Amino acid sequence: MSTRGREAVCCGSAAQSLGGIAAQDFAALDQAAVKLICADGRFSVPAQQMGRLLGERIAMERGGKSLRLDEALSTLVSACGCECVLHSHFLQRTPDGALLQITGCTTVLGWEIPAVNRAVCGFDAGLFEGFLSSATGKSVGVEETACLGLGDFSCEFKITVDSAQAVNGEREGVGDGNC
Ligand SMILES: [Zn+2]
Repeated sequence: MSTRGREAVCCGSAAQSLGGIAAQDFAALDQAAVKLICADGRFSVPAQQMGRLLGERIAMERGGKSLRLDEALSTLVSACGCECVLHSHFLQRTPDGALLQITGCTTVLGWEIPAVNRAVCGFDAGLFEGFLSSATGKSVGVEETACLGLGDFSCEFKITVDSAQAVNGEREGVGDGNC
């Protein structure tokens, strides 16, 4: 609470840009998305779509597509550059899924998320989904199962890999190539 002024900078090692968006704009967007969803639950869907697109872009700029799920998760957490404040912890891990618990959001946001009776981190769920799908080349679904917005102690994201769909699309042309 008394560390105001630090949150904007976060770690010195943090990426300058994420998916082509300046890191500080990215953080502002994340914060705005939470506030929008707190104000009106209908923002959840567009926020999730936006997060998903950004997640895909971040995975692409990191050359992804061949990472294992756990590697992709570690990459994502460090890419966001908030390891020092944002604590992520796996409550459960299996080859085709995980339950990721995140604490410290309030510190990062610099704003206390009110209990509004709904999950408010749709942007982040979309971000994880887009990044993990692109980075692993599989269809990954992410659902927020606990949230500060629901009055829970932390936010929890259930990550599921749809292994049935993992086989097709090995190397489908991705449109905007990078050569
Ligand atoms: Zn949440």
